[in-house]
Amino acid sequence: MEIFNEIKPIRAFLTAQKKLGRTIGLVPTMGALHDGHIELIRSSRQENDLTVCSIYVNPTQFNNATDLEKYPRTLAADSALLQEAGCDVVFAPANSEMYASPSQLHFDMGHLDKILEGEFRPGHFSGVALVVSKLFNIAAPTRAYFGQKDFQQYKVITRLVEELMFDIELRSVPIVRETSGLAMSSRNQRLTAEEREHATVFYRSLLLAKDLLKKGESIIPVREKVKQLCESVPAVRLEYFEWVDTVNLKPAENVSSQTILLIAGYVGEVRLIDNLILE
Ligand code: AMP
Repeated sequence: MEIFNEIKPIRAFLTAQKKLGRTIGLVPTMGALHDGHIELIRSSRQENDLTVCSIYVNPTQFNNATDLEKYPRTLAADSALLQEAGCDVVFAPANSEMYASPSQLHFDMGHLDKILEGEFRPGHFSGVALVVSKLFNIAAPTRAYFGQKDFQQYKVITRLVEELMFDIELRSVPIVRETSGLAMSSRNQRLTAEEREHATVFYRSLLLAKDLLKKGESIIPVREKVKQLCESVPAVRLEYFEWVDTVNLKPAENVSSQTILLIAGYVGEVRLIDNLILE
């Protein structure tokens, strides 16, 4: 496995690989890797000759200084996991490499980045779009892999690729969960054993809501029941629970395979998200 920290050498390496006709899959991450990330690596390996994993905690997508400071950084363990998973290339740049000049560029995606995560984390998707654009230009992959866990992020990147005409195929990979149902997340590392138990309430809320909506209950009482369920668990604070159309992220009108339930909230000081597409 090749490890690069700088743009010039990874570009030269990948350009040479492409000249040999090899396809490249890119898996962008912020490190502190878990089985969810490894599933993206597996998906990329199935479809590409070479898999590149980027590990970079991108400051411009954080709107909370404590969250950025406390974000887990475990590069040595990550490298070992990637090696074991058969990843070919790691790109782990420093801030000075990714933001050699201070960032001036901002993205505005209208409705898409104002709702859900965008409402509670202003500027977050602009930072995501910026860093993903940089990574796409550095690696120029054939395909790029993202998790359904960050569903709205996938929509933002889809728009980015369309509007900026990146010649890259995007893939969305289903959410990998703990046996408890908790969606895997790097931020779970910050939870105590007790908090991890509490955090399962978000997935339980999604299952409850799915069940009630399928039985014909309307969204207002369902939202109330989700709120009550979350409030019944210590240290849990619900931020939002929404029901939207997967295509345009506008409020959903009925239960269909085009409907997604999304939830976000805090367990103690740690903010978590989860979602469920209604089949
Ligand atoms: P992150 O390191 O949190 O920025 O995540 C990097 C990529 O892994 C993103 O595309 C995430 O959506 C994806 N990801 C994170 N958690 C999971 C999970 N539990 N299952 C599947 N993909 C995930």
